[in-house]
Amino acid sequence: MRVQPNTALIKNNYLSSMIDRVSKIIKPAILAAKAYHVPDSNGLIKLDAMENPYCWPEEVKTEWSKCLYQAELNRYPDASLSELRNRLTQTLHLPDETAMMFGNGSDELIQIILMALNKTSNVVMAPEPSFVMYRLLSSMMELDFVGVPLNNDFSLNLAAMLEAIETKQPAVIFIAWPNNPTGNAFEQEDLEEIIKVAPGLVVIDEAYHAFAQKSMMSCLNKYPNVLLMRTLSKLGLAGLRLGMLFGASEWISELDKLRLPYNIGTLNQLSANFIINNISLLEQQAEQIRKDRADVFASLTGIAGVEAWESEANFILFRVAEAGADKVHQELIKQKILIKNLHGALPLLENCLRVTVGTAEENNKFLSALNSILNS
Ligand code: PMP
Repeated sequence: MRVQPNTALIKNNYLSSMIDRVSKIIKPAILAAKAYHVPDSNGLIKLDAMENPYCWPEEVKTEWSKCLYQAELNRYPDASLSELRNRLTQTLHLPDETAMMFGNGSDELIQIILMALNKTSNVVMAPEPSFVMYRLLSSMMELDFVGVPLNNDFSLNLAAMLEAIETKQPAVIFIAWPNNPTGNAFEQEDLEEIIKVAPGLVVIDEAYHAFAQKSMMSCLNKYPNVLLMRTLSKLGLAGLRLGMLFGASEWISELDKLRLPYNIGTLNQLSANFIINNISLLEQQAEQIRKDRADVFASLTGIAGVEAWESEANFILFRVAEAGADKVHQELIKQKILIKNLHGALPLLENCLRVTVGTAEENNKFLSALNSILNS
């Protein structure tokens, strides 16, 4: 009689040999890390990710599709992104001699900056709470991330920053300006103090520039250790994935060596060129969002049980100390509204939630749902 192979045993051996190899080969920091979690937003009003809620008018979409029609997808994309470079130089009024490079979102640019650090420059610093990717990518790359707590009102603790810089000598300091998730833009004079004493790079991340309407671009010519980052994501093209890094060519030409040659595809380049030609459309949308932000903030502060912080970005941070953020977040999901729950991330964010400014209709639905949860 033929002996049947023990398939369960074979499968078990296969699995344990695989797990063994995974843990031998992958860096411990990656094995220990949690993947960046993107929640399922199907069927929900999506106010969790700082997206622009507006689409383009039909005629603009038609023009855009004509523009994409020219794409030669049999060819690799333009590796130097020359057209985009020229258009941005004109549109953004960049200081003379500013070099630039592009990333698949500014996330990729953060990753590239961190990848470039040499073995002895392994300290990365940022105020906290701030954009989680600074910490996440640093720890996956086994760099030493130092988060310097903000004050209780989320203003910058300049003294603590200066002391941490002195003792830790960071290779890179990331400053989100305005800051995510708190929405405030730290005092520019404080940031210049930091830039002056920083032994390495200071990256000013202006992801929310369109909603703050101020920039530290002029620092590029003033200080040799500043890079400035922008993204098209919050302005209205989160689906495109285009981040931009500006600075002196001495920095940018080194970092650009780490960029994969064709990281920005042809369709993305054509779309970015197209929208930069039509930038006033996105600027009008940003203006609407700024107006609606003021309305949402006023309404939020009028709801009993809510403490909200003024924002210069397209989102608002608020606390629901008595009701509890976990409960409010869940109740909002039951009412088909998704916002970001920050409770548990850091002590300063206890019972905090972050809502993106959406369309007037979305904002009203969110506000009345929140009101009913807190005050029924
Ligand atoms: N910087 C900050 C401060 C952000 O909040 C975000 C996204 N939430 C990013 C960068 C990343 O943006 P992108 O979509 O360009 O990767």
